[in-house]
Amino acid sequence: MMECAIIKDLLPSFIDGLTSEESNRVVGEHLKECAKCRDYLEEMKAELESGKYMEINKEQEKAEIWIFKKLKKIMERTVFGTIVAVLLVMVVLWGIYEQTFIFRISTLSDEVEVTYENVKGVVRVGFEPKKDNVRIEGWMGVLYDESSGKLLTNASGRERDCLTLVSCGISPLKKDGNKKFYLHYVFLDDGTVIYLSEYGENIRAEEDDILTVEFGDKTVEIPLRDLRTEAGIEKLK
Ligand SMILES: [Zn+2]
Repeated sequence: MMECAIIKDLLPSFIDGLTSEESNRVVGEHLKECAKCRDYLEEMKAELESGKYMEINKEQEKAEIWIFKKLKKIMERTVFGTIVAVLLVMVVLWGIYEQTFIFRISTLSDEVEVTYENVKGVVRVGFEPKKDNVRIEGWMGVLYDESSGKLLTNASGRERDCLTLVSCGISPLKKDGNKKFYLHYVFLDDGTVIYLSEYGENIRAEEDDILTVEFGDKTVEIPLRDLRTEAGIEKLK
């Protein structure tokens, strides 16, 4: 029985193949004769096998988790990709819309009909598009000297107004709306002129003040005085 105890101690190493040839021989001989130790060996082997099985299971679980994570990542990427793609399509569509309907280009002088109305010194000069589906916009600004960057002024000391005329396509979503651009001036008897600024202020100017009108193909400098008569606006045509 003493031998059995020694064999039992040796068995774990024996199973792992760590025992010497001499020990193997002793263990082998003992096992042939001792059923108890044979059973014990079988038990140990079975336990070991189940342990390995557990490990294999863990590996598989890990692999499954990895695959799941990978799948989740791919899904997230796909959702992200779809959102990016949808946004890109929207940007492109907006670009096409903008190009077609909102894009502004300088108005060529022969694309616009200049109209004139004068009711007792209240003058309205209109810029009407000759083409359909085009709107004329006027941008009022001030003139700068290009080399010095200084504001250009009239004889009266007032800044020089500059009107830039631009054409825009009309969006099918906004069929109504004004297609024409108007300038309004009120000529007073004392040689002053009142007009509405783009911010809605009443500006008092003088008849000698010069308005610069920029078309795509020409720039016209016209004293406000000339806007008082129909003959005077010939320069704008
Ligand atoms: Zn034994």
